[in-house]
Amino acid sequence: MAKYFGTYGIRGKLDLLTSEFAVKICSSFGTYLNGGKIIIGRDARLTGEMLRNAAVAGLLSVGCEVVDLGVVPAPTVELKVKEAKASGGIAITASHNPPEWNAFKFMGADGIGVSKEEGEKIERIFEENRIKKAEWNEVKKVENYPNALKEHKEIVKKYVNSELIKKEKLRLLLDCGNGTASLIAPQMLKELGCQVITINSQLDGSFPGRNSEPTKDNLRDLINSVKTIGADAGIAWDGDADRVVFVDEKGNYIFGDKSFALSTRIALEERKGPVVTTIATSNAIADTAQKYGGKIEYVKVGGPYISKRVRELHAVIGGEEAGGVVWPKIHYGKDGIITAAKIVEEICKQGAPLSSLVKEMPEYYNAKTKVNCPSKKKMEVLNKFKERIKGEGKIIEIDGVRINFTDSWVIVRASWTEDYIRIFSEAKKQKEADRIVEKYKEIVKKLSKN
Ligand code: MG
Repeated sequence: MAKYFGTYGIRGKLDLLTSEFAVKICSSFGTYLNGGKIIIGRDARLTGEMLRNAAVAGLLSVGCEVVDLGVVPAPTVELKVKEAKASGGIAITASHNPPEWNAFKFMGADGIGVSKEEGEKIERIFEENRIKKAEWNEVKKVENYPNALKEHKEIVKKYVNSELIKKEKLRLLLDCGNGTASLIAPQMLKELGCQVITINSQLDGSFPGRNSEPTKDNLRDLINSVKTIGADAGIAWDGDADRVVFVDEKGNYIFGDKSFALSTRIALEERKGPVVTTIATSNAIADTAQKYGGKIEYVKVGGPYISKRVRELHAVIGGEEAGGVVWPKIHYGKDGIITAAKIVEEICKQGAPLSSLVKEMPEYYNAKTKVNCPSKKKMEVLNKFKERIKGEGKIIEIDGVRINFTDSWVIVRASWTEDYIRIFSEAKKQKEADRIVEKYKEIVKKLSKN
C-alpha cells in the first residue's frame, strides 16, 4: 500500500510537506523517470514558492532539466508536458482543498498523472534511498517559461468556433474562486467575444472569496447573481482549474454529471469512439454514449486512470462526475478551461439556453453515505460484502464492488485516505436511491462490526 501517494500525487499540510520531504520525494521522482526534462508549475498558495524551490532542488540534484511555467492552472502543466515531449511534470497545487493544504501532482510522459501503483514505486526509491545523485558536472539548468498560459489559451480558442461565439455575444458571470483560472478564463472568454463579468477572479492563495471547491453551497454568490445581472450562464472553477461547474441562466446549479453528459454529446458529435469514465460515475454518461454512438469504458476512480485509458483507447472524451473532463484532442488531463469553452460554444451553436441543453440529458438521482471502518479491515469487509450480496445483480469489481440493477446501481468502495467505506447509489427516483443506499449501509455496518 502506498504510504504517501493518493489517487493523483501527494497531498498534505506542512507537517507532511516539509522542504526536506519535498526535496527527497522530487529527487525520487526524478530518479524514477531516469532524468530528462521536467515541466513544473504551481498555483498561488502561500506555501507554493517554498515547495517549488524544494522541488527544483530535488530534480536538479538527480540530473533533471527543469522548465518552470510559474503560476499556472494544473492542466497547463499537463498540456505543456505533452507538447514539449517532456519526461514528466509536477503541478504544485492542492486543487480544491483549503489554503493550508498543498500537493504535488506528479505526471509522466504525455502529462498523464502518476497513479497510486506507480507512486508506490517512487516511494520505494524514497524509502530505500535509491536516489541517483548527479555528479557536479551533470547538474542541469532551470528555464523559466512564461508563455505557457498564452499557448494554452490560444490552443483552446482554436478548438472552438470563435466566429460563431463572437456573433452570440453571451453574457457570462465567472467565479474563478481566486484560483489559477483567474489567469486564463476571463481573458480567453473576452477574446472569444463574450461579455465577461467576474467575481473572485483576482489570484489569491488564501482564497478570500469563497472555499475553493465549487459545490453548490460554496457558489451562493454566483448562483444568486446570475439571474440578477441577466447572464446566460455562470461558470466556476476549483483552485487548479481542472474542474469547472456551471449555473444556468435561471440560477440553477448544474451538477458535474450533467455537464459531463453534455460534453460527451459534444465530443461524440465530432467523432465516434470510446468514452472513458470511472466506475462511480452516473449512468447519464453511459446512456448519452449509447445514444450518440459511443462505447462506455470504466476505470478505477482517479484522474490518472482516466487519462491513461483515454490515451490507450484513443477515446473521444473522458471524465468524472465532479465536473472534470478530458478532451484528448488537446491533452490527456482534466481541463476546466477547455470544458468551459466547449460548453459556451455549444450554447451558441444550439442557440438555446443552457437550461434547455441540460434538460435534454438523462435524469438520475443519487445518494451517498459512509461507514466507519479502520484501514486494515477495509479489504476484509469488502470481501465479506462480495460473498453476502452474491446474486443480487450484475457485479463489477473494477474498484470496490458495484452492483447493477435494472434502472439503478450501488457502489461500495474503500476510501484511499480515510477510515471509511463509501456507499454511493443512483436511481431514477430520489426515494429509490435513498432506499438502496440505506439497505447497503446496514449490510456494510454489520460486516464491519464482526
Ligand atoms: Mg482540481
